[in-house]
Amino acid sequence: MYQQIQEGIDRYTQKIRSYQAEGKRIFASSSFQTHSIPMLRILSEIDQSIPVYFLDTGFHFPETLMYKKQIGELYGLDVRHLTSPIAKKQQINAKGEFSFVSDPDHCCYMNKVLPMEVVLPQYDVWISGVRKDQSKFRANFQEEEQGKHDTLRYHPMLNWDKKMIWRYIYDNDIPHHPLDAKGYESIGCEPCTAVRFRVTDDRNGRWEGMDKKECGLHIDLIDNTIQ
Ligand code: SF4
Repeated sequence: MYQQIQEGIDRYTQKIRSYQAEGKRIFASSSFQTHSIPMLRILSEIDQSIPVYFLDTGFHFPETLMYKKQIGELYGLDVRHLTSPIAKKQQINAKGEFSFVSDPDHCCYMNKVLPMEVVLPQYDVWISGVRKDQSKFRANFQEEEQGKHDTLRYHPMLNWDKKMIWRYIYDNDIPHHPLDAKGYESIGCEPCTAVRFRVTDDRNGRWEGMDKKECGLHIDLIDNTIQ
């Protein structure tokens, strides 16, 4: 396993160096969960100046916001916030409900996809920490994929499995998200996250009871795999 981890780090480093040598503008995005941090820590060792965007939907747990601040400071990351161009009061329907209640795809569109649309044209490479072992959808993702606005989507952690991720976390004393200890396996926005102690894949616990397993940011990659 240690060899696989080192090979993963070496490949990640080599890819970033080669994008930079080609003059490509690079950014990363993160949801700031414990298992997201190896990607960020390695990135901080490659180049701390690469911006890391956090989609501040307004629905996150306060613990996630505190953890994001802690991690950003610990690894010297340039963490930037993205918010929806649609004010929260305009996201409430006639019944007085936010759209995550009845239409989470639209809620993700307003709070994740639209803010990211502003960022994408400014960059050539988008790094995200998706992994094949997180879900059957992500199992079909590729290391590099064409994204919207001519952005190349790069997935350095794609072939890391859960054991490698947690080995890296323990070996490098990475702090844990405060909600890990409360049984949360996959932490997103508070209304769409459930506590799960027994899970079959890493995305269980999100959008519990709804026919939705992927957030709007990665829907285009699922569409690519079923074309
Ligand atoms: S995860 Fe839930 S609350 Fe967050 S943007 Fe998507 S639907 Fe809305």
